[in-house]
Amino acid sequence: MTDLHRLSIRELSEGLAGSKFSSRELTEHYLKRIAKIDAQVQSYVTVTPEQALAQADAADALRQSGMANVLTGVPIAHKDIFCTHGIKTTAGSKMLDNFISPYDATVVAKGKVAGLVTLGKVNMDEFAMGSTSESSYFGATKNPWALDHVPGGSSGGSAAAVAADLAPFATGTDTGGSIRQPASFCGLTGLKPTYGRVSRFGMIAYASSLDQGGPMARSAEDCAYLMNVMAGHDDRDSTSVNVDADDYVANLNATSVKGLRIGIPKQYFNVAGLDADVKARVEESLKKLEEMGATLVEIDLNMTDAYVPTYYLIAPAEASSNLQRFDGVRYGYRCENPVDLTDLYKRSRSEGFGPEVQRRILIGTYALSAGYYDAYYVKAQKVRRLIQQDFLKAFESVDVIAAPSAPTTAYKIGASLDPVEMYLGDIYTIAVNLAGLPAINAPVGFDKDQLPVGLQLIGNYWSESQLLSVVHQYQQATDWHTKRAAIAEETV
Ligand code: GLN
Repeated sequence: MTDLHRLSIRELSEGLAGSKFSSRELTEHYLKRIAKIDAQVQSYVTVTPEQALAQADAADALRQSGMANVLTGVPIAHKDIFCTHGIKTTAGSKMLDNFISPYDATVVAKGKVAGLVTLGKVNMDEFAMGSTSESSYFGATKNPWALDHVPGGSSGGSAAAVAADLAPFATGTDTGGSIRQPASFCGLTGLKPTYGRVSRFGMIAYASSLDQGGPMARSAEDCAYLMNVMAGHDDRDSTSVNVDADDYVANLNATSVKGLRIGIPKQYFNVAGLDADVKARVEESLKKLEEMGATLVEIDLNMTDAYVPTYYLIAPAEASSNLQRFDGVRYGYRCENPVDLTDLYKRSRSEGFGPEVQRRILIGTYALSAGYYDAYYVKAQKVRRLIQQDFLKAFESVDVIAAPSAPTTAYKIGASLDPVEMYLGDIYTIAVNLAGLPAINAPVGFDKDQLPVGLQLIGNYWSESQLLSVVHQYQQATDWHTKRAAIAEETV
């Protein structure tokens, strides 16, 4: 079969169960596509054909013996931030270019138990710091919709791989938008779960109080299948919350759009830099939801101006602390011929980390240093609480909150945004992480250059089922999520 890559996760599951094709055939099909097409997209850092085919054969044997799960034999790509036993895990950094993890992240281990076949590891901004995937040591990934544009970041490899049909779905992580924004730039559905819903064990830390893994796929239904694998309590992550995970697939029709109160934050639609096409597409999607029975309610989120400064203190502060472990001694990159220990630390870190990572370590170290701790870090934590309270107050009168996922569509590669300009592009996503809330991106059309636009829906704590359900119903009534970039139409 030449069109296996066009099937949804449910169709793949049914096809495998009905022996229409084997996991080996499916896996070989994806490996062939990667070999032919990925040179143009550069979404994979590492492809693992031998392991993938061995996993596929094991999956087929399980099917034969009647022991298969729903997803047994379905391929996946993992963001290169999730540790994978025996396979290189780089976090997009020279620092970890030689790092082979001795264990699997919980998310990866759960994927194996579910019978998923790992095709390989996909590209990302270095240590997940960025919004374009250009800060990767391995070079820029291309947006499948326009190869001279970025796929977004930091989970740009995950987004590009799925959008080019080089993986049926992928894992991503979101510290300040890294699932939602690349999903938006590549025309995909991506869910950032409530903080604590998905285990962070074995997920290389950027900012621990903000980091959260989640699914990236074509549709809410496909994301629900992957959430069923990823979500759940984990003893090995002390911030993993002991609340039962839902059956996200079974719940896809559990919330009705009829009667749903959607909050429209006044402040969000007056942001300077909000592109006219993005605004128009998002408003059209809200109109559609209104036709389906939702009520649009204007709300206030008064802390909007504080999002970027607050996030860009807290995230770098935590990063500077987390990245201390890369010292050239225990693992990772070590400089040549150090003259003494200080030289070893200094040069290993200067040579191993790229400029964006070094910038954040500097900002974070400054904000945490004795003289500035109260003025910057403590103050940012207080503002963070106010941002959370702003959302909680809004949820007293609405069920979900709507926003663009990003003020613009994908940037041109090398657009040479200065760092502050790039940080301002995170305005719609970072507050969700500061508050620990779940949020989803859904594709809702294109701008004048045929680049995808995304709608973001933010929910209250533990409302992943509701968010997936609302987007699922929107996707039953529209076809934006079925649109494919020309490169995805290439056959092998
Ligand atoms: N663009 C944001 C940053 O650079 C978010 C990144 C992320 O979510 N990992 O911090």
